Amino acid sequence: MTTSTKSNMYIAKEEKYGAHNYHPLPVVLERGQGVHVWDVEGKKYLDFLSAYSAVNQGHCHPRIIETLKKQAEKLTLTSRAFYSDKLGDFEEYICTLFGYDKALLMNSGAEAVETAMKLCRKWGYLKKGIAENQAKIVFAKDNFHGRTISIVSASSDETARADFGPFIEGVLKVPYNDIAAFEQLLQTDKDIAGFIVEPIQGEAGIILPDEDYLKNIKALCHKHQVLFIADEIQTGMGRTGSMFASYDFQDEKSESKPDMLILGKALSGGVMPVSVVLANDDVMLTIKPGEHGSTFGGNPLACAVAREAVQVIIDENLAQNAKQMGDIFMSGLRDIATRYSLIKTVRGKGLLTAIVIDCDEEDTLAWDICVKFKENGLLAKPTHGNKIRLAPPLVITADQVKESLEIIEKTMKLFDRH
Ligand SMILES: *Cc1c(COP(=O)(O)O)cnc(C)c1O
Repeated sequence: MTTSTKSNMYIAKEEKYGAHNYHPLPVVLERGQGVHVWDVEGKKYLDFLSAYSAVNQGHCHPRIIETLKKQAEKLTLTSRAFYSDKLGDFEEYICTLFGYDKALLMNSGAEAVETAMKLCRKWGYLKKGIAENQAKIVFAKDNFHGRTISIVSASSDETARADFGPFIEGVLKVPYNDIAAFEQLLQTDKDIAGFIVEPIQGEAGIILPDEDYLKNIKALCHKHQVLFIADEIQTGMGRTGSMFASYDFQDEKSESKPDMLILGKALSGGVMPVSVVLANDDVMLTIKPGEHGSTFGGNPLACAVAREAVQVIIDENLAQNAKQMGDIFMSGLRDIATRYSLIKTVRGKGLLTAIVIDCDEEDTLAWDICVKFKENGLLAKPTHGNKIRLAPPLVITADQVKESLEIIEKTMKLFDRH
């Protein structure tokens, strides 16, 4: 491993003074612009993680940063004890744009998922009439929705759960992309209030369900008076080649539009933590003053930044670019995969893609490949052992896609078995 003294110094500090809850690649970043980041030695990289799809708009997007600076000098936090001139504006903007009655702003993705779980239970009691403390929420196996105790209660990942119990009650799990299993569950349990699901499973390794999966889920949910809740924290905001992976927000008759939509990550272009739950009045108004909140949730700085960040996606056609660049990237990856047997498969949608390395999940091969990617000027990180997620900022150009494919090919050559 060739890291310089300066990088090693910063790595040693995190190692010594920081909790060991992550295992980062050995690269220390200090600057970013568009698809690029630079380390403390001045080496430039293509960022193919995009902070887990939080920087879809590219690093330090000038319009978002300008908005941040302006609002930061004016007003940053009021708490929700008072109104602000930014919250209502943003709520109106996002509700009108995406087609929901109301928005509930939080900060991190996990908080928004927690909020959706609370809304789901409230609705279950107040509107569906589920008996006290009996409400259940269904999740898909191999999901990722965040790290709080209640969210990991729904996880099937032992690393995320071990020694964090006891877990919350009222959680059911079904296999992902299995309509029959979900239907059977709905038929046998009348206390189900909602189903929380990722339109594409991100952390699990970019797992795409069947074409009609979400449409069928929604139909089943409605038949059984159950809320269909999509966690688009990673898949949303243009990442998969359309604004959302679950529904077309410009199509009022969409048959897969979620009853609740959870957004985070690129909602602020990676500039600050902003998340939101969108829902209609029937759901949202079940929570009354004092029943839920957050000191920073919906702060004026977040609202100003998020509004600009969403508008950038629209003005710059980033979803469309994700589709076009994603197509070029995917055909390039498929081409590379034909030449290197250590690539088991490639998959994805838009610019949310993954290559699966032909090795056990416990093997360090995918990690070693990512270290070489880094040395060759591209940053990516394995998820669940043998899968390498490749998800650059959506502002990427065709030339930059070509450059990334060259780095990937060059790196694969080093690990070639033949
Ligand atoms: C990242 C992520 C979360 C959690 O968001 P945090 O901001 O890290 O709490 C939840 N759901 C999905 C699908 C995610 O990708």
